[in-house]
Amino acid sequence: MARRQAAAAAGKADKPGRGLADQLAKLGIGCDQDLVLHLPLRYEDHTQLVPLAALGAGMTAQAEGTVLHTDVQFRPRRQLVCLLEDGADAQAGRAQLVLRFFHFYPSQQKALQPGARVRVFGEVREGHFGREIVHPQFRVVTPGTPLAEALTPVYPTTAGLGQETLRKVIARALASDPALTAESLPEDVVRRRHLWKFGDAVRFLHAPPPRLNRLTQHALDQRTHPAWQRLKFDELVAQQLSLKAHRRARAARHAPVLTGNGELTGALLARIPFQLTRAQQRVWREISHDLKRAMPMQRLLQGDVGSGKTIVAALAALQAIESGRQVALMAPTEILAEQHYRKLAQWLDGSGVRVAWLAGGMGAKARRASMAAIASGEAAFAVGTHALFEEDVELPRLGLAIVDEQHRFGVAQRLRLRGKALGEAHQLMMSATPIPRTLAMTFYADLDVSVLDELPPGRTPVATRLVNNKRRPEIVERVRRGCAEGRQAYWVCPLIEESEKLELQTAVALHQELTQALPELSVGLLHGRMKADDKAAAMAAFAGGGTQVLVATTVIEVGVDVPNASLMVIEHAERFGLAQLHQLRGRVGRGAAESVCYLLFEEPLGDTAKARLKVIFGSNDGFEIARADLQIRGPGEFLGARQSGVPMLRFADLERDAALIEQARDAADDLLLREPAAAAAHVARWLGGKAEFFRA
Ligand code: ADP
Ligand code: MG
Repeated sequence: MARRQAAAAAGKADKPGRGLADQLAKLGIGCDQDLVLHLPLRYEDHTQLVPLAALGAGMTAQAEGTVLHTDVQFRPRRQLVCLLEDGADAQAGRAQLVLRFFHFYPSQQKALQPGARVRVFGEVREGHFGREIVHPQFRVVTPGTPLAEALTPVYPTTAGLGQETLRKVIARALASDPALTAESLPEDVVRRRHLWKFGDAVRFLHAPPPRLNRLTQHALDQRTHPAWQRLKFDELVAQQLSLKAHRRARAARHAPVLTGNGELTGALLARIPFQLTRAQQRVWREISHDLKRAMPMQRLLQGDVGSGKTIVAALAALQAIESGRQVALMAPTEILAEQHYRKLAQWLDGSGVRVAWLAGGMGAKARRASMAAIASGEAAFAVGTHALFEEDVELPRLGLAIVDEQHRFGVAQRLRLRGKALGEAHQLMMSATPIPRTLAMTFYADLDVSVLDELPPGRTPVATRLVNNKRRPEIVERVRRGCAEGRQAYWVCPLIEESEKLELQTAVALHQELTQALPELSVGLLHGRMKADDKAAAMAAFAGGGTQVLVATTVIEVGVDVPNASLMVIEHAERFGLAQLHQLRGRVGRGAAESVCYLLFEEPLGDTAKARLKVIFGSNDGFEIARADLQIRGPGEFLGARQSGVPMLRFADLERDAALIEQARDAADDLLLREPAAAAAHVARWLGGKAEFFRA
């Protein structure tokens, strides 16, 4: 029904009707320009008729014939079966084709009456009684009905919005206003790179001519055709322009100048029992320099797990506090936030700096006290979870916001964080998930990046062992022996994404199993559904050595730091993603003792699982693992964009089109310099109101 209404609206009115407009909005289409840029997924060839005799199984083709008879059959299930015949080919004789419908309307049965001439399209297969098409597209024609002149586009669509309707509204938009297909880039930019003209490219992609040679057809399918290259190039230029615009806007803003006086930072450096690594010193200098400038810092601090990002963050915080400002440090989980809180409180004990704690799980009274301390400025340092950025939290003198493990925050959260009046505070983001170069050039192009490329000395790399779950008893023995020698162990529960309840049950069962198997040891339990206090207690018991084995879900994945823990067992390692395995493994190998990580797996292993385990077994290097991860998963999933539901780039592929990205960046620079007005028009064409998402 909805389909028919939409079609009617599209056919009659100039502007799409209400229902149609809603459906188009779901596709991210808000105006005619968006329609012009809504490009086909693939094509169907309705430009020729294949004689029935020439149809072979596996072909997708259009054919025509006369209905011999049409019946409803009931075996093995209710279906409409129609037999077509074309007797036209004298040599080949009479050829037949079966049309089969498992779902059908009486009107379809009626249309397919004997003697009717029908044109059908679909994929041919070999049925019991010869060739057939299941659920073909079909229509009744009169002899000589003209064929399509161009390939027929098949567009991405949404429930209730038919291809015919989409084709109609897109064709109308294409014909409506020449400005929609006009060049938005200067001629020489286009010519120098041997790019197709924009108008030619869109018109070609919406309606490619028939009978392309094999190479061209292949290029069209693979989106390497020059028409596709042009569209991808334009999309990437728009993205680069929008990122640059954002950066310039930032440069024009004024953040507090946080010069510091070195008192607090100096005291901290004197207090910690280690020397900063060279990498830490360099990164600390970079950040310290940024904080002294009026342009708000937006720096991403990347460093593999265990590279020592926390101390760098603490130093940055103290420089801000020395300058009379407040600092907020936000972590994605309560366990990690709490750990930071403890560490900072310890580091700052006696310094006069008050650290306030704020998280979702705390009682109303404690929360009010924290908020009051933060609002009055009495607490210069606020540490917590995203609760820190809720509406009613006031940070009147905020000078620096630090986000730990920033990749763990969803796109929506990051947008909210940016929307929240951070004032003109400096921002430091930290992440152990290294961002490959192509991604850094796009999604993070408005950030400055510091890299900790050196681990603190005295670490022995973690040895990784892949162990079939059949040999589980041996692993239990190793843990027993290790703990007898004074070591500690994490035992990570299997990942059960579908059900939190099941995950909880599994964790409890595993805790029971190990408590029984290791009666001489004290076994702790930590999972996401525990109350905040209980979590903190379990964590503290393990950190203090009170429990030797900690059965834990992935809540320990990020940031948790217990240097004496040198054994880790991960159950069903085949279910985890690469980044997750690397993060988990990073919980051990933090002290001087040699650490071992046992990855228990259960057969049979799928190809992806095999590939992942091979990578994690073969490398301890976060950058290498991230690269492999990107190859296995593709950038969209890598960045976690799926959860946002909004595609970041519609056409360009960050891996495959890496070379284009570089060209687009040059072109964007060039354009901004010479023709800022054209640059603005280009961004408007591509991003309209969606520019926000490129910076999420
Ligand atoms: P991450 O980068 O994963 O957040 P952390 O900041 O948690 O790493 O640091 C990991 C461990 O290394 C901590 O116990 C920390 O105190 C210690 N550490 C940090 N820097 C150094 C250093 N330069 N020398 C020795 N130990 C260090
Ligand atoms: Mg950390």
